[in-house]
Amino acid sequence: MNHQVRGLRGREYKPYSNAMSDCIFCGIVAGDIPSKKVLETDTCLAFLDIFPANRGHTLVIPKQHVADVFAADAQTYSSVATTAKEVADLVTQKLSSDGVSIFQMNRVAGWQTVFHLHMHVIPRWENDGLHKPWDIAPASEGSLIEVLRQLRN
Ligand SMILES: [Zn+2]
Repeated sequence: MNHQVRGLRGREYKPYSNAMSDCIFCGIVAGDIPSKKVLETDTCLAFLDIFPANRGHTLVIPKQHVADVFAADAQTYSSVATTAKEVADLVTQKLSSDGVSIFQMNRVAGWQTVFHLHMHVIPRWENDGLHKPWDIAPASEGSLIEVLRQLRN
């Protein structure tokens, strides 16, 4: 927790850019901001989203500030995913959900609104009223080939 305290004090201490002192999730990790904690590991914290999409909607974050998937090293990202899996198992068992949706948004264009890496674990039930954020439509063969060429070039 020392790194959060240092981050709150000194503007000169900026190994983690993006104004960590203003980060609400770092505030939650530090205990300065209250949260409804679901579970905790050595490296991650899982707590209830206060703007839930569904009952039991839980956020999983790394305790150490990292902005997004691009800033995270593989180990950090893996630990968040591993904890999200634990939460998915937990909500399914305890809340008897029929399914789980897991979202992880990055940067403004990717719908990220809090710039501290987090995964949404959303318990799902049949006919719970949630809907997909995009319309399903088939791609043309040409557009698939074209983007694949760009990705593999
Ligand atoms: Zn943070």
